Amino acid sequence: MTAEQNEYVASLPMILDEVEVLRVERVSPSFVRIELGGPALAELGPDGPVYDQRIKLIFPNAAGGLPSFANADESWWTSWIEIPEHERGSMRTYTIRDVLGEGAATRLVVDIVVHDTDDADEKDHEDGAGNRWALQAAVGQRLVTLAPRKGQEFGGIEWEPGAARRLLLVGDETAVPAIRGVLRDLPADAQGAVFVEVPVDADVQDDVTAPAGVEVTWLPRNGGARGEELHAAVLAHLTGTAPAEALTVTEDEIDPDLWETPVYSSSGEEVAEATAVPTDDSPYAGLYAWIAGESKVVTGLRRKLVNDLGLDRGQVAFMGYWREGVSMRS
Ligand SMILES: Cc1cc2nc3c(=O)[nH]c(=O)nc-3n(C[C@H](O)[C@H](O)[C@H](O)COP(=O)(O)OP(=O)(O)OC[C@H]3O[C@@H](n4cnc5c(N)ncnc54)[C@H](O)[C@@H]3O)c2cc1C
Repeated sequence: MTAEQNEYVASLPMILDEVEVLRVERVSPSFVRIELGGPALAELGPDGPVYDQRIKLIFPNAAGGLPSFANADESWWTSWIEIPEHERGSMRTYTIRDVLGEGAATRLVVDIVVHDTDDADEKDHEDGAGNRWALQAAVGQRLVTLAPRKGQEFGGIEWEPGAARRLLLVGDETAVPAIRGVLRDLPADAQGAVFVEVPVDADVQDDVTAPAGVEVTWLPRNGGARGEELHAAVLAHLTGTAPAEALTVTEDEIDPDLWETPVYSSSGEEVAEATAVPTDDSPYAGLYAWIAGESKVVTGLRRKLVNDLGLDRGQVAFMGYWREGVSMRS
């Protein structure tokens, strides 16, 4: 890294810089763990608990090139998006799984889910760029990361349970790093339940650390329909009764950009002023639910929890992390 690059890094409120792959591990059939390092990570944030902190990775273009952010300023996004798509590299969203070490030796660990893409002939390099990169990842390769810098406001943590007394975390494989992060950073007296769907038995990460009062249930699909067991398990947990039939969601209902938290709604609905935990005598008083994964699956749970069970919008965060059949390219 040149002195000039170091200078521009310091001029932006976040980290936007090249990092190097220091370690690659195929931890299970669906997860590739990547350890990234480099001088830019010396001030990797956030300042407090990491929880579900999201970051961006920019993967190289088809020729192996990465965009340069040397001398980038606040208009970096506009400048980057104006570069032709096949040149600018592909940006995708991931979660900080771990921050290891400190200072110049800080490493950023990311778990990338490897998956099938619909575009099987892979004519389009940008489609499935994260997946394709993870499958060939090797030590010494370089990426660009956009990540929080210590001491600076970055956003990207959605975990906001407020005064909730009971927690519910639900997610699929893409939410495993976020759920792990939240469980790691919860207070020791936290109470709640976690339901995690993963593709196959071998993807279960049973080394997860959670407070004693938080029960973690892994639900491998093993070829079953996406979301089916997850829906059933969550509804049985909330209502005490196993649902009589599978939850169906029509294509019209799905918002591929589904993102509804106590403070933001992608559908433009009015949102609660702050995380509110009803104190009424509803069975869900004091509950905070954080739900992330494939948008159709999350849409089904949203409808059930908000429309049918009557959970208050201030008690829930519903996040479509990806949408089947849709590339999340920037
Ligand atoms: C806040 C946030 C945090 C996230 N954290 C993580 C994380 O830590 N690890 C992680 O792996 N993902 C994470 N994701 C999800 C990730 O951004 C998407 O899965 C993304 O689509 C992957 O990009 P891609 O280039 O592989 O595929 P894309 O180019 O986006 O899509 C190509 C095709 O692959 C399909 N596809 C995409 N993802 C999957 C999948 N997981 N399983 C099956 N098919 C898929 C799409 O439907 C599409 O048909 C996160 C998303 C958000 C919003």
